[in-house]
Amino acid sequence: MIVNSVEMLANAKKNGCGLPAPDYFDYDSAYVYTKTAEALGIPLILSYAQVFDPFFPLEEAADIGLYFAKRASVPVALHLDHGTTEEFVERAVKLGFSSVMLDASKDSIESNTKRTAAVVKMAHPLGISVEAEIGHVGSGTEEGDDAVYTQADEAEAFVKATGVDSLAVSIGTAHGVYKKMKPVLNFERLSEISKLVDVPLVLHGGSGTGDDNITKCVQLGICKVNVYTEFLQACGKAFDETVGADLHARRAAAMDNMRSVLEHYFKICRSAEL
Ligand SMILES: [Zn+2]
Repeated sequence: MIVNSVEMLANAKKNGCGLPAPDYFDYDSAYVYTKTAEALGIPLILSYAQVFDPFFPLEEAADIGLYFAKRASVPVALHLDHGTTEEFVERAVKLGFSSVMLDASKDSIESNTKRTAAVVKMAHPLGISVEAEIGHVGSGTEEGDDAVYTQADEAEAFVKATGVDSLAVSIGTAHGVYKKMKPVLNFERLSEISKLVDVPLVLHGGSGTGDDNITKCVQLGICKVNVYTEFLQACGKAFDETVGADLHARRAAAMDNMRSVLEHYFKICRSAEL
């Protein structure tokens, strides 16, 4: 069944566990994420990122996501990840997404607050949950470090001013592949934010962060862990290992590997305790 992400994240917060939010980028990934969650009886945050639109258009992704979400035996939140414009977020809402993220984290705090509050005002009457980000989770692949750590007092004020349902925080993870350095997480900052902010916290850049780091983040108040890159790597590995096999066998191998990655994240986030 399709739901917004409010209840599942509230349960995660209450029980001190987390949920991975895998990004689907085609039919196979949407299929395998849903089937894996169903097999384990765990709710799913089936996420689609705006950045996929050029090769996997929003309309097509919405149909595929809704197809699985509506038929699933577990609650599924169909979530827009990193919506960067209000226009794109509204299109996702009209197409049936039950949860959206407006990412205005590169704006000033004033602009981020104003834009997020407006999206909340549009989405809440429709029963749609909203995630935002303050501070800025950087890109692991770019030269230099564009990350800005989230300030706890700023996070508290932002949540109060916007009415947002969940908040992505920047505490040392990065999007994409960690090339130059291993992630160094600021757990102290995370604890400070957890103490001041009532809504569930979200960790972006989960891939490559390390099992112990993820588990510790969940213990300290992270309720949603975004993962994408590790699924791509799992597919790449399957394709490398099945050169010469027919296409169906190669797709099956890729889906097997994606299943393993999601099962692993359910485990390290202790999602079964939800
Ligand atoms: Zn992200």
